[in-house]
Amino acid sequence: MSATTAASAAYIVAGLLFVLSLAGLSRHETAKAGNAYGIAGMAIALVATIGLAWRNGDALAVGLIVVAMALGAAIGIWRARIVEMTGMPELIALLHSFVGLAAVLVGWNGYLSVEGAPAGEAEELGLPVGIHSAEVAIGVFIGAVTFTGSIVAFLKLSGRIRSNPLVLPGKNALNVGALAVFVGLTVVFVVSPGLGVLSALTVLALALGWHLVASIGGGDMPVVVSMLNSYSGWAAAASGFLLDNDLLIITGALVGSSGAYLSYIMCQAMNRSFLSVIAGGFGNEGSTTAAAVEGEHTEVTAEEVAQLLRDADSVVITPGYGMAVAHAQNAVADLTRTLTDKGVEVRFGIHPVAGRLPGHMNVLLAEAKVPYDVVLEMDEINDDLAKTSVVLVIGANDTVNPAAAEDPGSPIAGMPVLHVWEAEHVVVFKRSMSTGYAGVQNPLFFRENTRMLFGDARERVEDILRAL
Ligand code: NDP
Repeated sequence: MSATTAASAAYIVAGLLFVLSLAGLSRHETAKAGNAYGIAGMAIALVATIGLAWRNGDALAVGLIVVAMALGAAIGIWRARIVEMTGMPELIALLHSFVGLAAVLVGWNGYLSVEGAPAGEAEELGLPVGIHSAEVAIGVFIGAVTFTGSIVAFLKLSGRIRSNPLVLPGKNALNVGALAVFVGLTVVFVVSPGLGVLSALTVLALALGWHLVASIGGGDMPVVVSMLNSYSGWAAAASGFLLDNDLLIITGALVGSSGAYLSYIMCQAMNRSFLSVIAGGFGNEGSTTAAAVEGEHTEVTAEEVAQLLRDADSVVITPGYGMAVAHAQNAVADLTRTLTDKGVEVRFGIHPVAGRLPGHMNVLLAEAKVPYDVVLEMDEINDDLAKTSVVLVIGANDTVNPAAAEDPGSPIAGMPVLHVWEAEHVVVFKRSMSTGYAGVQNPLFFRENTRMLFGDARERVEDILRAL
C-alpha cells in the first residue's frame, strides 16, 4: 500500500470519528465520549499527515509541522488553562478568526504557486487553471469574511467595542452590492487571474465581514458566534479543495453544516429570522424606539429575602451571566438544598441564551451538583411562574426583560423571555441599575412586586444562607 493510500484510509477513519464526535457532543450523557472520539480523530489525522510528509522525504515540511504544532500546543494549553468560562465565547470568536486567516493565506499561496507562477507550472500540476482560480477566489472570500467578522465579534463580546448595531445608511444595499461585486470579480479572476483582481477581492471581503458583524446587535450575538463557526467550517472546506486534502473538505463541511444548523435552532429559540441574522441584521434597521423606562425601584436586604423564602411554597431561580461572573453556583446549590430541606419546592428556569454561551448555566449548575430534574428549560417553566411564590433572578437581565414581550419598539422585541414578573414576588440580584448585554433598560426592576438585592450575587446568596 502506498503512503498516499494509507493516508487516505487514515483520513476516512478520522472523518468517521469526527462524525461520531459530533453525535456524542449532542447529549449530556455522551459528551465525554464525543470529546474522546474527536481527540482520537485529530490524532490519527495528524499522524497520517506527518507520516505522509516523512515518506515523501520532505524533512523540511516535517520540521516545520513539528515546530508549528509545538508552538500552537503551548499557546493553546496556556490559554485553555487560564480562560474563564465567561470568556469562552470571545476566545472561540478569536479562534474562528485564525481559521479565516489561514484560508486567506492558503488561497493566496494557491494563487502565487499556480496562476502567479511562471508559465508552465500550472500545467505541470495538471490542473485546469479556471477551476483553480475559482477555488482561490471563493476560499479567499469566505476566509476574509470570517477573519474580520470574527475579530469584530471578539471585540464586541469582550466589551472592547460597544455591542450596539452599526447602522450605516443603506446597509442592506451595501451588503448585497458587495456580494454582486464579489461575483463579478470572481468571473474576471477566472478569465484572467491577476494580482490586482485578487487584492481587490480580498479587501472587499475583509470590509464585508467587518460590516456584517458590526451591523448585528448585542441580543443576536449568540447566533453570530455559531454562524461564524459555520463560516470557519466553509473556509476550511474551501482550503481543502485548494490543498487537495479530503479530510479538510470533510471536516470543514461538518463544521460548516453543524454550525449553520445550530444557528438555525438558536434563531428559532430567540424568535429571530435566520436569514435576517446571517445577512447582518437584514430588515432590522436598528429600530430603537423603545418606550422610556422610568420609575422607582425598591431595595431589599438579604434578611428580608430569607424571610420571604421561609414563607414561600415554591421558588424558581432564573440564573444569568451575573451568576457566572460572581461564581455563585455553589452558594446557589447550597441555598437550593437548604430550602428543599425546609420543604420549599425549588426549581430552576433556564433561558436558552442565558450567560454567554449556549448551555452555560446548565454546565455551571451541573458542576455545583444541582440535580438535573429541577433544572427546567424556559418553555417548561414559563406557565408555572404565575403560580410561584418567589422568583430569584440571579445575575440575569435581558432574559427576564418584559419589554421583549410587551414593547414592540424594543430592540429585543419578540425574543422569548422568562415571564418572572408574573410571580408573586421577584428578587433581582445585581450590583447596580445598569443594563444587560443587549444594552436595553429593564422595566422589571420598577415593577411593584420586584425587589432589588444589590451587591455581588455570591456574597448576597451567602448572606441569605446565614440568615436562614
Ligand atoms: P445579561 O448580560 O443580560 O445580564 C447580566 C446581569 O448580571 C447584568 O445586569 C449585571 O448587572 C449582573 N451581574 C454581573 N456581574 C454580577 C455579579 N458579580 N453579581 C451580581 N450580578 C452581576 O445576562 P443574561 O444571562 O440575562 O442574558 C444573556 C445575554 O447575553 C443576552 O442578551 C444574550 O443574547 C447575550 N449573549 C448570550 C450568548 C449565549 O450564547 N448564551 C452569547 C453572547 C451573548 P450589574 O452590572 O448591575 O451587576
